[in-house]
Amino acid sequence: MCRVIAIANQKGGVGKTTTCVNLGIGLAREGKKVLLVEADAQGSMAVSLGIAEPDELDVTLVNIMEKVINDEDLEMGEGIIHHEEGVDFIPANIELAGLETALVNVMSRETILRQYLNSLKSQYDYILIDCMPSLGMITINALVAADNVLIPVEAAYLPVKGLQQLIKTIGRVHRKLNPALSIMGILLTKVDRRTNFARDISIQIREVYGDRVHIFTNCIPLSVRVAETTAEGKSIYLHDPKGIVANGYYSLTEEVLEHEK
Ligand code: ADP
Ligand code: MG
Repeated sequence: MCRVIAIANQKGGVGKTTTCVNLGIGLAREGKKVLLVEADAQGSMAVSLGIAEPDELDVTLVNIMEKVINDEDLEMGEGIIHHEEGVDFIPANIELAGLETALVNVMSRETILRQYLNSLKSQYDYILIDCMPSLGMITINALVAADNVLIPVEAAYLPVKGLQQLIKTIGRVHRKLNPALSIMGILLTKVDRRTNFARDISIQIREVYGDRVHIFTNCIPLSVRVAETTAEGKSIYLHDPKGIVANGYYSLTEEVLEHEK
């Protein structure tokens, strides 16, 4: 059984990519077979995994999705890159922005990514999709392909308004396109332990969403060490193994594995 998790929030800079990479590698360290899919034209997941110039890549998610749209055959493993820390990944780059527009005229445009990922499910325990900071057609494709959504929320601002829009979109996809979709939980990120923001925000989210949305028990602390991992193309587990963020992502990994049961 393969579980597909979309990591989504239409706000940028909340820790989607960082979470995708470190949860993915966390799951791989627990012996799971993991594929990370970058559904963001920024290419920042590719960079985090050691690809210095994603815009120069020949094969990305864009070419793969174009082949699915045109009913062309894909070769086994085409476009999939193996990372030394035990995960596979499919990068994206700036060309994804063009595909977003082109999708408008495509038949079954919401299900292109699902069609492709379904063909890979037998090979993986987890497929994590790093979404772009928008609720456009590529993000809809990710939500249609997913079983669960994990929502990183930066603990520094009052996020409830943007969250409402996201949760409404997830509800719509659930009703119209993907009845299997559910929210796995909200993950508070960049939590500054010197302030009470995180606690205030979890209280606020609980007040608004009540029991409808789970909030992960473990949050991810703020640490300057995170920015350094991107430059190195490594996970936080290698860069700062004993640090608070490695510990946070380790605990999140355990919580996600709990969800399996
Ligand atoms: P998104 O994918 O939502 O845009 P990123 O994961 O790229 O967010 O993170 C945005 C920025 O915040 C990056 O520069 C990243 O290094 C930094 N960052 C992410 N998580 C943390 C954290 N826990 N502590 C400090 N900085 C972080
Ligand atoms: Mg990102």
